[in-house]
Amino acid sequence: MAITKVWLNESENECSMCGACEAVCDAVFEVPEKMAVKSGVDFSAYEAEIKEAADSCPVGVISFE
Ligand code: SF4
Repeated sequence: MAITKVWLNESENECSMCGACEAVCDAVFEVPEKMAVKSGVDFSAYEAEIKEAADSCPVGVISFE
């Protein structure tokens, strides 16, 4: 199923502001302070990158569905 939603999920850990997600996919993620998901992005065009960014996050705070 296509990814339609990406968000910062700090229910267990906090974003450490490491910038790894932005390094993997700056079309979707930016880290001005804590990670922010850019608005107006067609997530379906970046599915592999979103999954890689979530895997790369050292504290596991990137959720998508
Ligand atoms: S990779 Fe994870 S911890 Fe690092 S800036 Fe992105 S969301 Fe935050």
